[in-house]
Amino acid sequence: MIAAPRIALIAHDRKKDDMIALAGEYAAFLRRCTLTATGTTGGRLISELGLAVDCKHSGPLGGDLQIGALLVEDRIDAVIFLRDPMTPQPHEPDINALVRACDVHNVACATNVATAHLVLSQLRDNGPALNEEV
Ligand code: PGA
Repeated sequence: MIAAPRIALIAHDRKKDDMIALAGEYAAFLRRCTLTATGTTGGRLISELGLAVDCKHSGPLGGDLQIGALLVEDRIDAVIFLRDPMTPQPHEPDINALVRACDVHNVACATNVATAHLVLSQLRDNGPALNEEV
């Protein structure tokens, strides 16, 4: 049996509706996953979709860094990070640190909805083997 993928979900404020719509489409799959999210994103996933989510701090308060630390410890298989490219963020250094950590540790990081579909459908259909040699 394929282990349940461990997925981190983060969305900036103007991308949160997109995240809810995306997670709604994959809800049956996401219910079988171990989910971690930044605080506000996670709160909405819980209240609007009934998903079980381990909520970290809100992104501007260090949530991105908490998720970055998890993936450095090999406790996250993929990150869905719907960034808002049109709005300056007070925690830009934290955002960059999280994306950099994904690159350093070869963890899949989808930063837009199109890529998120590719990552989630791959994980759903083939399990968390995205960072293994092919
Ligand atoms: P939030 O954090 O889910 O707590 O809004 C996301 C972010 O801004 O990085």
